[in-house]
Amino acid sequence: MKIAVFPGSFDPITLGHEDIVRRALPLFDKIIVAIGTNADKKCFFTLDERVSFLKKVFEETDKIEIDTFSGLTVDYCRKKNAGYVLRGLRTAADFEYENAIAHANRHLAPDVETIFFISQAKHSFITSSVVRDILRNKGSVVGLVPENLSF
Ligand code: ADP
Repeated sequence: MKIAVFPGSFDPITLGHEDIVRRALPLFDKIIVAIGTNADKKCFFTLDERVSFLKKVFEETDKIEIDTFSGLTVDYCRKKNAGYVLRGLRTAADFEYENAIAHANRHLAPDVETIFFISQAKHSFITSSVVRDILRNKGSVVGLVPENLSF
């Protein structure tokens, strides 16, 4: 089984995240979208809310599993028998950040490969933090988050 973990905060899931998962799906037998629960990160949506958004977006296929984890991503990958970490790249700033994480993960777990998907141009400006700012100020997030979600 080729299994990939797509780790993130998903606070909340955006069209950019959804697109990465759907484009990666043909390459894997299973993708686990896993919310990392870093104790020091304050989130806008609760863990339960973020899990339920992900379940709603990906409910039509059992090739996608939704889960939560704490601790190191590579330890979680090993626990789930996943040989791949999936990440998205929007900008050069993403590259700098992702590059450091990918090297650290490779140092810890050479058997776990990180795979990057370049964001579609139309999604490259979408961030969860922009979505949160819009929601805080009662604006519309149509076109930024998956269609079947309502907040
Ligand atoms: P984290 O808190 O780990 O950065 P996020 O939930 O913000 O988690 O993002 C998870 C992954 O999705 C990261 O690799 C991020 O670069 C990627 N990502 C976020 N937004 C987009 C987007 N609009 N298009 C493509 N990839 C994205």
